[in-house]
Formats: sequence, structure tokens, C-alpha cells
Amino acid sequence: MATQKCIVKSRPEVGGLSFEDREIPKPGIGEILIRNRATAICGTDSHIYNWDAWSQRRVQLPRIIGHEFAGDVVEVGPGVRHIKVGDFVTGEGHITCGFCRNCRMGQGHVCESWKGIGYDIDGCFREYLCHPEANTVINDKNLDPRVAAIQDPLGNAIHVVFAADCVANRVAVFGLGPVGMLAVAVLKAISAAEIFAVGRKNPYRLDMARRLGAHHVIASNDVDVVQYIKDHTDGKGVDVVLEISGNPKAVQDGLKSLRMGGDLVLIGTSNESSTIDLAGDVVFRSTRIHGVTGRKLWDTWYKMKGLLASGNLDVEPIITHTLPFAEYEKGFALMNSGNCGKVVLTF
Ligand SMILES: [Zn+2]
Ligand SMILES: [Zn+2]
Repeated sequence: MATQKCIVKSRPEVGGLSFEDREIPKPGIGEILIRNRATAICGTDSHIYNWDAWSQRRVQLPRIIGHEFAGDVVEVGPGVRHIKVGDFVTGEGHITCGFCRNCRMGQGHVCESWKGIGYDIDGCFREYLCHPEANTVINDKNLDPRVAAIQDPLGNAIHVVFAADCVANRVAVFGLGPVGMLAVAVLKAISAAEIFAVGRKNPYRLDMARRLGAHHVIASNDVDVVQYIKDHTDGKGVDVVLEISGNPKAVQDGLKSLRMGGDLVLIGTSNESSTIDLAGDVVFRSTRIHGVTGRKLWDTWYKMKGLLASGNLDVEPIITHTLPFAEYEKGFALMNSGNCGKVVLTF
């Protein structure tokens, strides 16, 4: 039996990871076997690493974690019809049923019984994994494997940006973690008129937002964000707010930073509730509030392919650290420090 090293969350504690030998799987019906070239650490993996309230509710141990990856197909299982050995692929980490009403109506991102690899079922922090052909996309052969491996969060960013009309409009991004950074890069690529990047006072990330092309970079601890945005939009507010931080205060500030008739798009999550002034900030201002989750199947993935092919979208600056797979503990420490963009592990 051939084995491989896997990153396993084995103990219900902070850290609690082990580097374990597991069998290299055989592809079942409709599955492909992928040999990973790169895999990236997500905020979700950090939640599991830190064993927060969400992880304790959601993740059964032991679990091979990780859900962001790109690699080459080395074997196909029975019934695989479209993907071939040698294809360079990335998997959509939300495994959808393909059968529920939402899936059949083209809304697979809200499939009624989706499962996430790396938390509901075993994930991709290993060299070889099996994945359903139906949940896999074929990448351009020339795409950098590290970029190919971050299409999950890039897809989140594209989903949130395209949920409102951002082209040639003023847009504020609240939350400058990796998805917020990617959203700034996407807004730049599609020509948002003016980008306001709002984040906690972390010089590393504020500086990166500036380099990615944000016109205004605002440290929310130091500045009255709503006042700043009003002062720089003729007192009117921005057309669109993308709320990526999950911070309840940011949701409130986001609403108050919008012009009349603006759009608030939410992708950030929190364990806390947020109280908003529905009459004053939503009803009488005709505000639209829209939640988005995951990536649209497969609209987001095709937009991502197009944006990457256009040459206008450069996400490489957001990949700040590339480490050998076995040095994953360094990667998690970097993620917890906040002094990084995307951290990619390579094989
Ligand atoms: Zn992710
Ligand atoms: Zn479904």
C-alpha cells in the first residue's frame, strides 16, 4: 500500500496538527486522482488550527484539512468522461449534490446538502487526493500553480465584486485579509472609479492595499471611517460597500458610508450579531443588502478564467509566502501573525 504525508487536525486544541501517513486513494466512480503542485492556507484552516467555536461545532476529528489546491490529473476513475490524465486542474471545494432544486436552478453555491472538503470531509493538505470530476475545472496550462491554488478565495472576491455594479463606481472594501486584498485587485482590474480600502491598523496589509491600487487606505482604529468616506465623496458616500471583515461595527459603518440607493454586499462572517438601523440606514435610503457565499457555479469560475486571461488581474503580489509542504507550521504561524497575504505550500 503506497502512503503519503497528510496534515491532519488530530487533537481538539490550538495547533493540534500532526503530519501523518495515509493511503494514497484510488479514484472511485466519477472521481479523478490529482497530484497536487500547490495548496494554500485559508482563513478557514486558521479557524480550525485555532479550534474556534465554528470549528468545534463543524469539524469531526481526525480530519485531513485544506481546501485550496491545484495539481495534475494522474488517474481517472470509472465513468469520468471529460477530464483526462495530464490535465492541470483545480477543485471547487464545495461538493454539491447536483440534484437539489438550487443545484438544478443554477444556484449550486447554495446547494441544500453541500459538503466542504477539509472540514466536512477530508481535504487537500496531501500530495494526492481524489475529487469528483463534476466539481473540477481545467486550468490554463501556463497558469502559475500558486495562482491556480488560490482560486477559491479569488473566486470569493470575484463573487462579491460582481454581486453589485462596481465598474466605474466608487467602492469601499471593509476588511483587508486575503479575500479583501483580492477584491481590491479585482476592482482595479475591472476599473472601479475609486477604491477605499478599510482595515485594522496593520501596516503590512494597509501597505499592500495601497500597492494593489486602492486610492484611499483607511486604518479603522485611527480614523472615523464614515466621516472620511463622506469627506472624499462630496458628502454623498460610495456606491458600493463590500463587507469582508465580518466585524459588526464594520457592517454599521458600511451602511452609513453608502450613498442613497447604494449596495451593501456581505461576505464576512462573525459569531456576534450586528444591530442596524433598518429605517434610517436601509428603508429611507433605499439601500440594497445582499449576502453572498462561496463561488457561483460556474459563473464565478468562468469570470475568473476570463479575468486571469485578460492580463489585467495580477494577484501574484498577494501571494506573499511560498513554503515547502512540510513547513506548514511556519505557514500557520504567519497566518496568525497577520503579516502575510496568501501563504502557499508547494510539493
Ligand atoms: Zn478558502
Ligand atoms: Zn444540491
